[in-house]
Amino acid sequence: MQDIIIALDGYSGCGKSSTAKAVAHTLQYTYLDSGAMYRAVTLYFLRKRVNIDSSVEVKKALQDIQIHFSRSQDKQKNETYLNGENVEEEIRKMEVSEHVSAISAIAEVRQQMVKQQRALGQDKRVVMDGRDIGSNVFPDAELKIFMTADIRVRAERRQKELADKGVKVEVEDIARNLQERDRIDSSRSQNPLVKTADAIEIDTSNLNFDEQVAEVVKLAKEKINA
Ligand code: C5P
Repeated sequence: MQDIIIALDGYSGCGKSSTAKAVAHTLQYTYLDSGAMYRAVTLYFLRKRVNIDSSVEVKKALQDIQIHFSRSQDKQKNETYLNGENVEEEIRKMEVSEHVSAISAIAEVRQQMVKQQRALGQDKRVVMDGRDIGSNVFPDAELKIFMTADIRVRAERRQKELADKGVKVEVEDIARNLQERDRIDSSRSQNPLVKTADAIEIDTSNLNFDEQVAEVVKLAKEKINA
């Protein structure tokens, strides 16, 4: 038995977070949502109207940002805190989704987040989902998964997730946002979204949730027991 790092990367809205969460639960590993960290930075930048073209302003803002995760009271969820405030709901809103990829493309932002992500994963036994986890944050991760899914399937799943939280958004608007984020994430110069040669691709278009979790758990157990 060995402790491993599971890196789960892929396009926006493929079910990475929910899969990673369930896999971590099954294996009794820690789930780390790297996208939530970029979302929290984005929320701070929007609130403080940070000028992203000014590296002085960006650096100053980053010094003022503390992010941590904490279990919700019912212990069902890992929630994101920005400078001590629970921002879990706010960071999922469309306004943040619309700006997060541009802010995540800033070199200083990435450097700071990657440093924190590496510290969080130093003891292994983590499942981290994101865009550059296998390619940059943990290039030596024992298991790398690259998730994909058809754009229509992704948009409909995300619409349902938002609807469950009482937020109504048109499926076309969601699809547009997902595609725009994929475009920026894949084409940025700093740690773009790429499928590494050693990543295993899972297309979730025709898989239900339990099937996609079972597939990742099976691959993880092969590594853990290798
Ligand atoms: O995973 P989620 O969709 O919540 O991530 C939000 C955004 O954060 C992504 O669209 C991407 O721009 C950025 N991100 C990133 N690198 C990561 C995780 C997320 O650039 N490792």
